Amino acid sequence: MSLEPETFKSLVRAAADQVIASAPELTALDQAIGDGDHGANMKRGFEAVLGKLEVIGAQPLDEALKTIGRTLVMTVGGASGPLYGSFFMAVGDALSKKRLPEDLAEVFGRGVGAVSARGRSQPGEKTMLDVLFPVLETLKSEAGHPNLIERVRVTATEAAARTAPMLATKGRASFLGRRSVGHVDPGARSSCVLLHAVCDSLEVG
Ligand code: ADP
Ligand code: MG
Repeated sequence: MSLEPETFKSLVRAAADQVIASAPELTALDQAIGDGDHGANMKRGFEAVLGKLEVIGAQPLDEALKTIGRTLVMTVGGASGPLYGSFFMAVGDALSKKRLPEDLAEVFGRGVGAVSARGRSQPGEKTMLDVLFPVLETLKSEAGHPNLIERVRVTATEAAARTAPMLATKGRASFLGRRSVGHVDPGARSSCVLLHAVCDSLEVG
């Protein structure tokens, strides 16, 4: 896994493009169990990230991730903005002391921990953590595996789908009680989209 500045820049561009392209789907999911703004929130945030791509691309990796986090906090809004923002800021912070690829699980784990702390949430509550946490488990258990990227992709897809039968106990969807059952969680889906974009980009790069 190489993360040269140009590779990182194209990875960020690909992830932002994928999130922006998935905005209608994220909107539809959030219309079912939320207030319908997740697509617009994420689109606004990642358009702002694209607007800073030159700055981000010129920064060291840890600083670049913190810039992405701060940008998302300032622009995404909703519950997901501070959560995704915390994720990227914590990952950037962890990266200043750790190395890739050997510390990948630990670095990703810091991001997941920051979401859990900020959201006062745990896996099983029908949120983005229900994708982020299983992916962390895969990064730990499959570290160094030649098919790690594919395993992460499959884990993210399956984990997002598994949020459909869950009862939401955190976030806006929890207001619906039993009516939250039967729909994929919007934040779980956006995490899946982001992870897929990163996996695809790392495979090409
Ligand atoms: P809002 O719910 O304020 O409208 P968004 O629609 O942008 O914000 O984001 C909703 C998503 O945020 C949910 O689908 C869920 O995945 C995630 N989310 C909400 N609250 C929490 C929480 N406490 N912990 C983790 N994720 C959460
Ligand atoms: Mg919403």
